[in-house]
Amino acid sequence: PAMVVAIDGPAAAGKGTLARGLARQLGFAYLDSGSLYRAVGAKVLAEGGDPADDETAARVAEALQPADLERPDLRSEAVGRAASLVAAKPRVRAALLAFQRHFAASPPDGKAGAVLDGRDIGTVVCPDAPAKLFVDASVEIRARRRMEELRQTGADAIYAAVLADLKERDERDRNRAVAPLKPADDAELLDTTDLGIEEALETALRIVRR
Ligand code: C5P
Repeated sequence: PAMVVAIDGPAAAGKGTLARGLARQLGFAYLDSGSLYRAVGAKVLAEGGDPADDETAARVAEALQPADLERPDLRSEAVGRAASLVAAKPRVRAALLAFQRHFAASPPDGKAGAVLDGRDIGTVVCPDAPAKLFVDASVEIRARRRMEELRQTGADAIYAAVLADLKERDERDRNRAVAPLKPADDAELLDTTDLGIEEALETALRIVRR
C-alpha cells in the first residue's frame, strides 16, 4: 500500500509549502485538498449561487470534475471565503471524500506515496496514515503570509481585513459539526511561527522519517 503523509492545520500556517517540499523530497504525489473545496466555492460563485445554500453547494460538489481544479481563480480571497462556507456542509464533504481517499491509496504516476494537506486529513480522510503533522503558527504571522501569497497573485491586500478573514475562517473550521479542524490524537505538532521554510521542512522531514 502507498505511504501517506497527512498534514493539517489552520489557514496560511505553511501546510502547502511544507507538503509540497515533503512530496518533492520523498518522491511522493501531492494533493492540496483545500483546492477541492475552493473549486466548489468558485463554481458556485461563477454561477451566481450562494455558497451558504446547502442544495447548491452539494449539487456542485457532486458534479465536480478534475478540470475544475485548474480554475485560475482558486487562490482569491472571495473563493477562500466561499470554500470555507461550502466546507461546513456534510454533503459537500461526503462528495469529496472518495476522490481524496483514492488519491491516497493509489497516488498518480505510480508514486510510492502521497502527501495530502488540509483540515481533516489525519482525522477523517486518512485516519490510518503512519505520519501526521499538525502545522500551526500565530494568527498574526499567518495573516502576513497570506498577504504575501495574495500579493504574488497580483491582488491588493489589507492586513486588518486579511487578519479578520483568517480568524473568521478558523473559527468556522474549528466549530463546524462535521470534520472540525483539530489535531489527530497521534499527530505531531509543528509550530512554524518562528521557523523559516528550510527549517520547517527539515523538522517535518525528521518527523516523517522516524
Ligand atoms: O487550505 P485552503 O485555504 O485552500 O482551504 C480552503 C477552505 O477549505 C478552508 O478554509 C476550509 O474551510 C476548507 N477545507 C476543509 N477541509 C480540508 C481542506 C480545506 O474544510 N481538508
